[in-house]
Amino acid sequence: MYIDTHAHLYLKEYDNDIINVIERAKASRVDYIIVPGTDIQSSFLAADMAANYPMIYAAAGIHPHETTMWDEALIPILEEIIKNNKKIVAIGEIGLDYYYDFSPREMQIKAFRDQIELAIRVDLPVIIHNRDADEDMIRILEDYVGSGLRAQLHCYSASLSDAKKIVSMHHFISFTGNITFKKADDLRKIMSVISPEHLLLETDSPYMSPEPMRGKRNEPANVGITAKKIAEIHKTTPEDIARVTSYNAFRLFGIGRVPDTKFTYIIGHTLYINVTNRCNANCIFCLRKKEPVIAGYNLSMNASEEPPAEVYINEIGNPVNYKEIVFCGYGEPTIRWEVIKEIAAYVKAMGGNTRLNTNGHGNFINKRDITPEMKGIIDVVSISLNSTDASQYSELMNVDPSLFEEMIHFTVLAQQQVPRVVMSIVSVDDVEIDKAKNFVENVIGAEFRVREYF
Ligand code: SF4
Repeated sequence: MYIDTHAHLYLKEYDNDIINVIERAKASRVDYIIVPGTDIQSSFLAADMAANYPMIYAAAGIHPHETTMWDEALIPILEEIIKNNKKIVAIGEIGLDYYYDFSPREMQIKAFRDQIELAIRVDLPVIIHNRDADEDMIRILEDYVGSGLRAQLHCYSASLSDAKKIVSMHHFISFTGNITFKKADDLRKIMSVISPEHLLLETDSPYMSPEPMRGKRNEPANVGITAKKIAEIHKTTPEDIARVTSYNAFRLFGIGRVPDTKFTYIIGHTLYINVTNRCNANCIFCLRKKEPVIAGYNLSMNASEEPPAEVYINEIGNPVNYKEIVFCGYGEPTIRWEVIKEIAAYVKAMGGNTRLNTNGHGNFINKRDITPEMKGIIDVVSISLNSTDASQYSELMNVDPSLFEEMIHFTVLAQQQVPRVVMSIVSVDDVEIDKAKNFVENVIGAEFRVREYF
C-alpha cells in the first residue's frame, strides 16, 4: 500500500535487526522500499540489499557531503553498478548541502551536474538532497528542462515558490517526518497546496522520525504516520495518499504496476462514476489520451468497454454511504446522458446526493436542452470555466469559439433546474481569478470556485 522512497537501511543502526525492520514494514502495509546510496560503498550495499530482499529497490549516487574529492572517474563506477543491478531505479542521493558545507560548493555543483548527466544518459530519475542551496538548486534544475531529467526532491524544506517551480518542471516532492514536527507550520502550509499528484512518501530512515517518535531511530514502518499527516492536511484519507503516491512512485521509478481500470472510485468520502473517456473537446492540458489516471485510479476505457447503468448501480450499493456520487472521469459525462439519468434517479431514490462535473457542452452534444431532465436527479452541476475569453477558451479546448457561449448558456439554463451550479477555474494568477470571479458571480450569477492545487 505504501512505498517508502528513501531509507538508508544499510547503515549500522540496522545491523542487529534488519529482518525485523523489514517484517515490521510489511506488517505496516509498506509494499516497497527504495534504499539510496550516498557514496560508492553504500551504493554497492544498497544494490546488495535490493538483490536480497524482493521489496527493496536501490539508488546509486554520491551525496554532496562526499564530494570533497569529486572525481569524474566515479561516473563509470556508478554506471557499472547500475548496469549490473536491475533493481537500481535511480541515481541518488545527490544534490547540494550549503548548511553543513562539508564539501566545497564548486565541487558539490560539479558532482551534482555530472550525476544528473549520467541519469539522463542511462534514463533514470535522480533523488535530490537540498539543504540551504535553494537558488543554485532551482537554477541547475532549470538548466536541464527539456533534457529528460526526472527528479524527486527529497526531505523538502525550501519555499512555496520553489515548490511551484519544481512541480512546473514535472518533478516530485517528498516530505519526511518533518511534516509532523510541532514547529513545522510553514512546511505544512506549503504541503497543503501541493497536489498529491506531485508527492511521494519517504521516511529518510534512520533519520527524521515523525512525532511522537522524534529523536529515535526511524524505520520504513513509520511511513504511514507521514501519510496520515499528509491526508489530514489535504482533508482526505491515508488510503488516498497511499494510492496516489504509490502510483507516483510507479511513474517516477517504475516500481509497481498500472492499476486495473475502475468504473467507480472513492476519493475521500465521495464516490466518483467513471462515465466515459470520450469527449467532444481536446483540451491541451487533458491527460485523457496519454495517462487517464486520477488519484492513482486508472480510468482508461474505450467506448466498447463502457458499462451499462446496472454495473455502476451495483458498485454504488447504498449511496448514503458517501457524501456525494459524482459523475466525472477523463471524458465528458453528458456524452452518456441517458446512463447518467438512470444512475442519478437511483441515487436520489435511495436518498443520496449527486453532482455532475461537466464542460457545459451537454446541450450541444445531445442536440437538445437536457437541463430540464436534471430536475430532481442532479443536486449540483460543476462546470469548468477554463477561460473568460472566448478565443482563449477555444484554443485551450480545441473547440469552436461558439462553444464558449454554449457553455455560458448551459450554465444559465442549469441554474433554473438544479439547486446549485458552480463554475470553477484552476488557480492561475490573482488578476485572472478576480476577473473570473467577477464574470461568474456578476455576469452569469453562478457560484464561483477556485481549484487551488498546483
Ligand atoms: S473537457 Fe475535460 S475531458 Fe474533455 S478534453 Fe477537456 S479536460 Fe479532457
